[in-house]
Amino acid sequence: MQFAINISYIIAAILFVFGIKMLGSASTAVRGNRISSLGMLLAVVATLARSNLGYEWIAGGILTGALIGFIAAKRVQMTGMPELVALFNGFGGLASLLVGWAEYEKARPDWSAYLTENDAVPGSWFSALVIVLAIVIGGITFTGSIVAYLKLSGKIGATAAGFPGQKVVNLLVMAGLVAVGAFFSIAVEQANAPSLFLATVALSLLLGVLGVIPIGGGDMPVVIAMLNSFSGLAAAAAGFVISNTVLVVAGCLVGASGLILTVIMCKAMNRTLGNVLFGGFGAASGAGDRQVEGEMKAISVEDAYYVLEAAQNVVFVPGYGMAVAQAQHVVKELAEILERNGAEVRHAIHPVAGRMPGHMNVLLAEADVAYEQLCEMDDVNAIMSTVDVAIVIGANDVVNPSAVDDESSPIYGMPIVNVHQAKTVFALKRGQGTGFSGLVNTLFFRDNCRMIYGDAKATVSSLVSEFDG
Ligand code: NDP
Repeated sequence: MQFAINISYIIAAILFVFGIKMLGSASTAVRGNRISSLGMLLAVVATLARSNLGYEWIAGGILTGALIGFIAAKRVQMTGMPELVALFNGFGGLASLLVGWAEYEKARPDWSAYLTENDAVPGSWFSALVIVLAIVIGGITFTGSIVAYLKLSGKIGATAAGFPGQKVVNLLVMAGLVAVGAFFSIAVEQANAPSLFLATVALSLLLGVLGVIPIGGGDMPVVIAMLNSFSGLAAAAAGFVISNTVLVVAGCLVGASGLILTVIMCKAMNRTLGNVLFGGFGAASGAGDRQVEGEMKAISVEDAYYVLEAAQNVVFVPGYGMAVAQAQHVVKELAEILERNGAEVRHAIHPVAGRMPGHMNVLLAEADVAYEQLCEMDDVNAIMSTVDVAIVIGANDVVNPSAVDDESSPIYGMPIVNVHQAKTVFALKRGQGTGFSGLVNTLFFRDNCRMIYGDAKATVSSLVSEFDG
C-alpha cells in the first residue's frame, strides 16, 4: 500500500510541474490548470488511503473549510478578489502553524517514543526544528497576510505605518525568535520547552504584524508576492513535520514560484528586496518636495470622441479603477471600434497595476481581448512619443511621472508607463482621488492631459455610443 501511495505522490508531483509549466502561456493555461488539479486530486486520495487517519475529523475539516470558502467566494465582489487572495495565503500559513502545533502536542508526552515511531534518530533535534520552521513561517505568513488584507481592503491605511525605532524593534524580535526557536529545538525534552514553544508562536505572530505594517504604498505588490511564497514554504515545512512528501513538493513549488514573482515585482518597482523590507518606502505621502504646477483640465465625452475619431495610434492603460468599474468589456468594445476606424490599438500592462499580480491580464482575458494586444510596459514606452492618444482607465500610480522626474518623490525610480510622452492623454477617473500610494499625480496637471470624470465603465460606454451614433 505504502508503495502505491509513494508512486501516486511522484505522479502527482510530475503533474504539478507540468501543470505549472503550461500556465506560462495563455493558450495552454486552462489545460495546465486542469492537469495540476488532477495532480492535487491524486495527492489527496493517496493521502486519505494512508492508515490510522481520523476520518471523522478530516470530514469535519473539509466540510467546515468548504462551507467558509464557498460563502466567501460567492460573496466577494470582483474588486475584493486581491484581499481574498491575501486572506487565503494567511489561512495557508495558519494551517501550517496548527499542523506544527498539533505535532508538538502529539510528541510532547514522550519524545523518544515519538521519534522512534517516526523513524527519526532518538534525541535528534531535527524533528523539533522542522516543527519550529512550520510555526515560524506559518505564523509570520498568517498575521502578515491579515495586515496585508486590512491594507488592501482599506480597513487600515494603505500607506506605511511605522513608529520611531521600528527597525530596531523588528531586528530585536527577529533575533529573539531565532534564539527562542533554537533553544526550543535543542532543549525540546526539557521542562521549559513548552514555554519556549509558546514564546516561538507569539514572536512569530508578532513579527508578521511588525514586518508588514511598515511597508506600504507602491511596495505592497512585493509583500503580497512574498507572503504567497511564504505560504508555500510554510506548507513545505508542515510537509516535513508530518513526513508527507507531496506536501513538501507542492509547498516548494509554491514557495519557488512565489519567490520568482517577488523578484519580478521588485524589478517592476526597480527595488531590491532588502530595500522593500527595511527601507520604509511609501512611508511618506504627498507629492514629494516639488510643488505641482498647472491645473487639471476636463474634457467632455463629445470632444474626446472627435480626438479619438482622428487618432491613428491608441494605447489603453488600465489600472485598479478599471477593476472597480468592471469596465473591461466596454474597453474591448471601444478598442474594436477604434480598430475598425483604422487606428492601431494596444493595451499597456504595468506589472503592478491593480491590486494583485496579473490583475489586468485576468480582467482583459475575461473580456476576450486578444493576447497579442497586451503589451509590456517597456515595449509600449519605446513607441510612446508616436502614440496619438493614451487612454488611462482608472490607473494612477503606474502612470505618475514623478517616478521619473521628481527625485524627492517616494516613488522616484519606479518604472511607469510613460503616457505623459503621448501626444494626448485622456485620464478616466471619478474625481481627484489619489491612487494606492496616496501620492498626487502630476500627469493630470500636464498640458497634454485631459480628465474625463465619471465612472470608467459609464465614460467608455458613452464614448462607444458617440461612435455608434
Ligand atoms: P491606483 O490605485 O494608483 O489608482 C486607481 C485609480 O482608479 C484611483 O486614482 C481612482 O481615482 C480611480 N478609480 C477608482 N474607481 C474608479 C471607477 N469606478 N472609475 C474610474 N476610475 C476609478 O491604481 P494603479 O493600477 O495605477 O496602481 C496600482 C497601485 O496599487 C500601485 O501603487 C501598486 O503598487 C499598488 N498595489 C498593487 C498590487 C499588485 O499586486 N498589483 C498589490 C497591492 C498594491 P478616483 O477615486 O478619482 O476615481
